[in-house]
Amino acid sequence: MRHVTDEPRMEADVVVVGAGLAGLTAARELTAAGWTVRLLEARDRVGGRLKGLDLGDGKAADLGGEYFGDKSTLIAELGRSLGVEGFRTYDEGRRLTFVGGRRHAYTGLFPWRLAPATLADFGQAVLRIERLCRTVPPEAPWLAPGAKELDSQTFWSWCRRNVATPTAREFLSMVTEAAYCASPADLSLLHVLYYANASGGFRYLLEISRGIQRYRFEGGAHSIPQKLAATLTDETRLGAVVRRIEQRADSVVVSGPGFEARARWVVVAVPLTLSGRIEYAPALPGYRDQLTQRMPAGAALKCLAIYDEPFWRADGFSGQVTTSDGPFRVALDTSPPGGSPGVLSAFVTGSAARELTRLPAPDRRTAVLGALTRALGPRAAKPADFVEQNWLDEEFTRGCYHGFAPPGVYTSYGPALRAPIGRIHWAGTETGVHQMGSMGGAVDSGLRAARELFARAAGDRDPGAAILGAVGRG
Ligand SMILES: Cc1cc2nc3c(=O)[nH]c(=O)nc-3n(C[C@H](O)[C@H](O)[C@H](O)COP(=O)(O)OP(=O)(O)OC[C@H]3O[C@@H](n4cnc5c(N)ncnc54)[C@H](O)[C@@H]3O)c2cc1C
Repeated sequence: MRHVTDEPRMEADVVVVGAGLAGLTAARELTAAGWTVRLLEARDRVGGRLKGLDLGDGKAADLGGEYFGDKSTLIAELGRSLGVEGFRTYDEGRRLTFVGGRRHAYTGLFPWRLAPATLADFGQAVLRIERLCRTVPPEAPWLAPGAKELDSQTFWSWCRRNVATPTAREFLSMVTEAAYCASPADLSLLHVLYYANASGGFRYLLEISRGIQRYRFEGGAHSIPQKLAATLTDETRLGAVVRRIEQRADSVVVSGPGFEARARWVVVAVPLTLSGRIEYAPALPGYRDQLTQRMPAGAALKCLAIYDEPFWRADGFSGQVTTSDGPFRVALDTSPPGGSPGVLSAFVTGSAARELTRLPAPDRRTAVLGALTRALGPRAAKPADFVEQNWLDEEFTRGCYHGFAPPGVYTSYGPALRAPIGRIHWAGTETGVHQMGSMGGAVDSGLRAARELFARAAGDRDPGAAILGAVGRG
């Protein structure tokens, strides 16, 4: 891989903007088909929302995306093809949750010692969400039966009408914030259902051993983009912050401080919100700009507390700690295979992230370790190391896990997510179908963007119009 200053003037068939999983996948497909590609990455590393932390002794942890399940076929296949194998997430012993003002130790999906009325209420809510999400097609949620109605309410409005007991609502809000990095009041009900169905189901999204968090990657998920980029050393340019994309009659010119790249087509594979911050000439049509104005990224910090050993395992705990009003929504055992060192990852998401990011870093550390200590005892208070990854502050990410839709967005602007505009094609996990929002969604979007270009080269001259034909039918 080279720095962009090594080649400030570039020419290629396709320029791909962003070397996360989506951009890397698109670049690999195009290169494999014999096209010339320049993959422009703003940072001095590849991987975007996948980032590693060196734990020493050849071991590593993930500061970004990490988990996958049996339904995560695309990312599992990609990992395997690069020699990155999965291993089972540690999920033995009791879980701990702090809801309704009390500490509960339990096994299974919910704390069974809660009042029977609360349990029954939570169970019926999950069942209804599960049934409803199956009606939302991941390839076009705006075409779901009753899409307008589903998209004209927040998930919180739905909870207020359909979940009667305060503790069941509190538990549902907590798991929603952990899975979506946004509060139920932020989210369109249609988005909640869409993401759940694209992931494999609502309950599947919340589960560990029987769900999307069943596996992690040996050496870390971040090693996948690193290995992929090692196959694209001639194509990848680091330090290339794309600021402007100019479409001309016969080409597109992609530029930023100190470089310019000319190509026939461009694939923009950056987080959705950030795609709206690039300058386009001519300006993008209003329907696309309105979309990027309306889909913010979720809010998440990932805090890793590293201990000599996973002491909670010997105490009979799985390491999973959830809190409805604490500094994080969920903490999980993310120790490397073999369990040394012991690592707890605390996911500070949604409203917790909004509150904690207002505090200085030392206070955030105190708050996270305080909650872990309350759950797992005094040994949690003294980690050998504590590392915080604040994704909100990252200039080239600006939040995570993915961009979400408040009410009204998909049914008004949804098809603009993927519709090419002239010589510009879109990738990035937010535009994925299979496991949109996750690593699989990124891979899916990169494959689709490459397929669009192959079809174009074969004579399909206006793919954007075909996709946009679906606008307004939702
Ligand atoms: C804390 C956290 C936990 C997560 N947990 C999971 C999980 O357990 N399982 C799962 O499947 N997924 C998880 N995800 C989501 C997953 O990581 C993402 O969906 C996926 O990595 C997104 O890939 P992408 O290529 O679409 O985008 P990105 O990874 O964001 O890549 C976009 C790239 O574009 C670059 N870029 C941005 N702007 C510019 C510009 N102007 N010019 C040039 N380059 C630019 C960025 O630097 C970046 O490298 C998690 C994410 C986070 C942050």
